[in-house]
Amino acid sequence: MSIHKTEAIVLKVIPFRSSSLIVTFFTPTLGKIRGVVKGVHREGEIRQAGFELFTHAEYVFYEKKRSDLHLISDASILDSHSAIRNRLEGIAYASYFCELTDELTEIHDPHPEIFDLLKTSFRFLPVILSSRLAVLFEIKLVREMGWLPYLDSCLACNAKPIEQGFFSIRLGALLCEKCRSKDPNAQPLKAATLAVLRAYTHDDLELCLRASHAAVIEHQIQILMAAFLNYRLGKTLKSKKFLGSIKSALKNF
Ligand SMILES: [Zn+2]
Repeated sequence: MSIHKTEAIVLKVIPFRSSSLIVTFFTPTLGKIRGVVKGVHREGEIRQAGFELFTHAEYVFYEKKRSDLHLISDASILDSHSAIRNRLEGIAYASYFCELTDELTEIHDPHPEIFDLLKTSFRFLPVILSSRLAVLFEIKLVREMGWLPYLDSCLACNAKPIEQGFFSIRLGALLCEKCRSKDPNAQPLKAATLAVLRAYTHDDLELCLRASHAAVIEHQIQILMAAFLNYRLGKTLKSKKFLGSIKSALKNF
């Protein structure tokens, strides 16, 4: 057994037996790690706070060579993200970021960019329009995992430059007017929307957040990314369904 000390963000917490937890967290250099925390309820609330969803802390864990389930011994909180926990909307979006990250990543597959993406997104979540941050989170995460839709030219004939086109959810790519029959369900993308979508795939998160675009463009990109992720994942994530249900509730108040 080797000992590791690493900062990480908690993605998922499941109660385990009477006083233990199974915690999944994302680290900067070791990727996603899963481990057991023993005796957490016995030792009180302060210890438990280190293992709550969204917590950013420094963890000590003992790596087990024959199992993916390590033994987590200690946590020193760096940021509990209380500003996120104060609002239902914050909790709902942060839960979605965690579930999507958990769904798209493998255990022990390092992606420092994803750790930074989680950290930056949690920092902005209390102060930025959440739906806008969420679509950028989706795009940056799929880019890092190699799932990014192909937007440079027409996938079928390679026509370039392509200023507007048709986006195929099934192919995860752009088609030109001539080739749109390759996917009859491909959705038209106007030049302005395609330009913003391309900028979102290339530019860094903070630059994307500083730019301002028409609501109709943002909305179209959100719908497109939701459909793309549903198709690629083969399901709608629980936290995404919850977000849908609170959005209509929030509008009524
Ligand atoms: Zn074409």
